Amino acid sequence: MRFASLGSGSRGNALLVESATTRVLIDAGFGPREILRRLERLGVDAGEVDAVLVTHEHSDHIGGVAACARRFGWSVLLTHGTLAAGRGADAGMAATVIDSHDAVSVGDLCVQPFPVPHDAREPVQFVVTDGARRLGVLTDAGHVTPHMVAMLASCDGLVLECNHDLRMLAQGSYPQMLKHRIGGLWGHLDNEAAASLLAQVRHAGLRHVVAAHLSEENNSPDLARRALSAVLGCESDWIGIATQEQGFAWRDL
Ligand SMILES: [Zn+2]
Ligand SMILES: [Zn+2]
Repeated sequence: MRFASLGSGSRGNALLVESATTRVLIDAGFGPREILRRLERLGVDAGEVDAVLVTHEHSDHIGGVAACARRFGWSVLLTHGTLAAGRGADAGMAATVIDSHDAVSVGDLCVQPFPVPHDAREPVQFVVTDGARRLGVLTDAGHVTPHMVAMLASCDGLVLECNHDLRMLAQGSYPQMLKHRIGGLWGHLDNEAAASLLAQVRHAGLRHVVAAHLSEENNSPDLARRALSAVLGCESDWIGIATQEQGFAWRDL
């Protein structure tokens, strides 16, 4: 099993997970042309993607889903709330409504959704496994719940939101209301919150930790790396960064 990112941040997210026979995307926050360009970078044809799993209806996650699903024949898996809230997301695409607590199979991958606190209708994040390895993905959550910790424990790879640095957000130029939204309980995880989550789920077998959904205004890769590496006691370079433009290259689990 391996995984890669097509890009991550407030201007679009998409993460590719591949097993021996199956490829799924988590979110498609880019339009079809951009998705094609980014998939090509990873050596993947759009027709080789089996399904897209949608975390929630914010446009940086669902923006390209309907158009890509129609054009490339992808099936779409999403919660009832995300389907209901995602304007036009259901037009002409093959959507399967999933329960936010029930695992579903896509080819030889098992996908376990879990609910997260975020300002969307029914947001979920995912743990994906091929039976041998587990990848935990968390890109949008306002705070860490015990259920999230339970779901992300014993993963071989973790992609964790490090949205902002608290000080940079407080001192930055965003309007006060937006600062409250981002830093609030249904907003986004800051570096220290992500670090405290990592402290609760870390184990000796963890092979990859990648920081994702970094704010270009209120964070830096260096600060995110420092927060997560302090928990693991590793070199800060060992922590990966999912960038907005490049995402990150294939990583083997
Ligand atoms: Zn969101
Ligand atoms: Zn987002």
